[in-house]
Amino acid sequence: MNLAFLLLSCTLVAGDEPVLLDAFHYTDAKTATAEWKPQGVAEVGVSTAKDGGIELALPFAAKPGLERVIIDRKLNLDLSGRREFTLDVEPDNMEAVGEVMIYFKSGEGWYGCGIPLRRPGPQTLRFVKASFRGEGRPAGWEHVDGIRISVWRGMGVNSSLRLSNLVAWAGRAKVVEPAMVVKRVDPAHEGRAFWNHSGTGAYPGDWERTAKTLQENGINMILPNQLWAGRADYPSKLLPQSDTFRKYGDQVAQCLAAAHRHGLQVHVWKVNFNLGNAPKAFVEKLRREGRTQISATGKATNWLCPSHPENFQLEVDTMLEVARMYAVDGLHFDYIRYPDGEHCYCDGCRKRFEADSRKPVGQWPGDCYHGSRRDEYRTWRCAQITRVVEAVSREAKRVRPGIKISAAVFGAYPSCRQAVGQDWVAWVKAGYLDFLCPMDYSAGDDTFADLVSSQMYFVGGRVPIYAGIGATAVTPPMTASQVIVQIEKGRALGASGFSIFNLDGKTIETLVPEIGIGLKAARGNP
Ligand SMILES: [Zn+2]
Repeated sequence: MNLAFLLLSCTLVAGDEPVLLDAFHYTDAKTATAEWKPQGVAEVGVSTAKDGGIELALPFAAKPGLERVIIDRKLNLDLSGRREFTLDVEPDNMEAVGEVMIYFKSGEGWYGCGIPLRRPGPQTLRFVKASFRGEGRPAGWEHVDGIRISVWRGMGVNSSLRLSNLVAWAGRAKVVEPAMVVKRVDPAHEGRAFWNHSGTGAYPGDWERTAKTLQENGINMILPNQLWAGRADYPSKLLPQSDTFRKYGDQVAQCLAAAHRHGLQVHVWKVNFNLGNAPKAFVEKLRREGRTQISATGKATNWLCPSHPENFQLEVDTMLEVARMYAVDGLHFDYIRYPDGEHCYCDGCRKRFEADSRKPVGQWPGDCYHGSRRDEYRTWRCAQITRVVEAVSREAKRVRPGIKISAAVFGAYPSCRQAVGQDWVAWVKAGYLDFLCPMDYSAGDDTFADLVSSQMYFVGGRVPIYAGIGATAVTPPMTASQVIVQIEKGRALGASGFSIFNLDGKTIETLVPEIGIGLKAARGNP
């Protein structure tokens, strides 16, 4: 960095100048370790790079149970007048890093914020104060008494991360990005989608009105949620029919007819595995049959266990049923993952994991939950999810040639592999997906842009990315102009379109017309 920083000579970080909290310039590993105390097994070395910094060892292959590497420094700071923080990092292997988190300790709690890496090589991470979340009972930004840097596990490989220049900014941080050649998609042919959570469109019982309004405002795709793990909004022979179906009739048929009249593509959205909104008797039956998930602590959870062979078949068959019955343009996965890192540890999972790995588990679930076989188990979890995507993709294309397969996925990769068993990069590389809708839900434009940049790197142009904008997924909801700014950010980073959450009776009258004006309504087919 070429900026002249104020020296950190007192605890009050005042004024408008950027303040260097730590340059990480230490003469040797011993001095570095004395300042930055490693927690657990972390090792701190000194970088030999010409601009210095420290090297943080990430022994994720050597330590399969290691979730993150932490270093802590005690430091009294008043950060109340600061707005952003930047940290220079250089990964030895970016896939090893789930995300980089900074915590500021304050009283009995913390302020924490995590960011994924955007690309290989040196880069500056920007942490916006508004995106920090409180944990415990922090005593305020004026009473910060420690800094923690936490590097979360990505892939199970051994590598290192170089850290330098932690800077606190009073205003907008000046981050110099290397010039990149971005191929912008012609806006007339970008994917312009809305997710519709109700599955009924914006006006229940009137898909015609929804489709016409979307078409008039330049939208060309709709992703209606008409299928769950335990209910369907169409006359399914495999799943219980929903109240929506009983009240308004076949939603897939009505949506398709109206959407195709107005030149909109329809990609039927399935909430996989999650049995929310399924009839109680249906869920109880599955639970009795040992088909629902059990947490590491033995808690029953109303999600289908992905490793159960009958659940696999049900998930695949229901999606194929839609492809067989209707001339849909695509099938869209959602909740195509585990609920969290705590599942599934049912008896069936143990048996099937032992069979697949050809090795009994000593301590169940301990060894697989946080012990020596943790990484192997997490990778096995990914495989249980991936096989559903693979089978649906392969079979749906046989049933209905030209059909497109897509998925709503967690934004930060590879942390979602570890956290929820969702390896969407593997799906893209294997050719199972035709486009990707990462849920980059944040009111913060920088967070949104960081996620899109990272996804552009991982996808590497293999399939289009329709960046997911969480208009009503954040509190307070985003305004139309905020949504348009993110559409433009996505375009500038090379995204092939956008997908907005959520279309309902309100947003069709607020967001949709304003976005239409912003898009100037001109559109073509993606
Ligand atoms: Zn299970």
